[in-house]
Amino acid sequence: MRAARLHEYTHDMANGLSIDEVDAPQVVSDSDVVVEVEGAGWCQTDNHIIEGMWTEYVDQDLPLTLGHENAGTVVETGAEVDVVSEGDQVICHPVQTCGTCRPCRQGETMYCENDAFNGLTTDGGFADQLLTSERAVVPLPDGVDPVDIAPHADAGITAYHAAKRAVDGLNPGDTAVVIGVGGLGHIGLQCLDAMCAADIVAVDLKRSARDLAEDLGAHYTIDPETEDVASEIEDITEGTGAAQVLDFVGADETTALAPDVCAAGGDHQIIGYGGHIHEPAQALVNGEFAYQGNIVGRYTELQELVALVERDAVALHTTRYDLDDVNSVAQKLEAREIDGRAVITP
Ligand SMILES: [Zn+2]
Ligand SMILES: [Zn+2]
Repeated sequence: MRAARLHEYTHDMANGLSIDEVDAPQVVSDSDVVVEVEGAGWCQTDNHIIEGMWTEYVDQDLPLTLGHENAGTVVETGAEVDVVSEGDQVICHPVQTCGTCRPCRQGETMYCENDAFNGLTTDGGFADQLLTSERAVVPLPDGVDPVDIAPHADAGITAYHAAKRAVDGLNPGDTAVVIGVGGLGHIGLQCLDAMCAADIVAVDLKRSARDLAEDLGAHYTIDPETEDVASEIEDITEGTGAAQVLDFVGADETTALAPDVCAAGGDHQIIGYGGHIHEPAQALVNGEFAYQGNIVGRYTELQELVALVERDAVALHTTRYDLDDVNSVAQKLEAREIDGRAVITP
């Protein structure tokens, strides 16, 4: 089968991955599931993996097939698999968990001590077929297209996870700020809109992204190039600040907003990454706000997101590309030329 593989870390996105002919995956353990990949979302994290940004955090053996946002049709199952059978359409949580370690038993599946992560620590879905496990697949309801839903396996679930956490701290009348209305941000905004009655403020440099935010339920938009974000939010909230900030950018400039825009006791949710946090410890003490990291989401949160998709509460804006186009997609994303989400269709 064909697979888009990373052989060497590089900053040259034009030559990041090569299309190799490799053996198709086989069921080895009784809980294995092999999926014919129909859609595999391209993620900013794929660019970061190509650059070698994850080597400090996880073990990676190259060559590695990238692709962690996968959906498709089950073609083979291990002897003990009950949740799905051949021919079922599924979305694949990127993390295959063990089910028996303490975090798994607590339901904190993202903290599994024996996990494998498609496209990050084990082969992913930029390929004709993907090897995963029964504990990672969520069956799709009738009428949900695997190509359209694929990016929800990471982009969607990560945005949902952060939004669900934020909703915990958002009472009606509170304000939530969404920074960056791109691939993840436009999903997070819809999740907030579906799950709470806060006022939503969207911040994005791009006019098209601010327009999209308004269409998706944002009550206010801010252009950080021509407007002062902190004083706009102060006006909107009448000096209270935002109870929750969802930072889908994670740059130095956006994390630096927290002391000025977070309400007392609020949270600055970090979802995007690449920058650093350099704020004075005293600012956190004075405002008792917190920076909160977000890594993907639990298996059960993917089920919840699929339920939101089924009731049309969360729409995903996608563009489809062939497997041969992976490197041009990486370049386009680097140049911020992709609105919504790119989906590879192997
Ligand atoms: Zn991703
Ligand atoms: Zn585990």
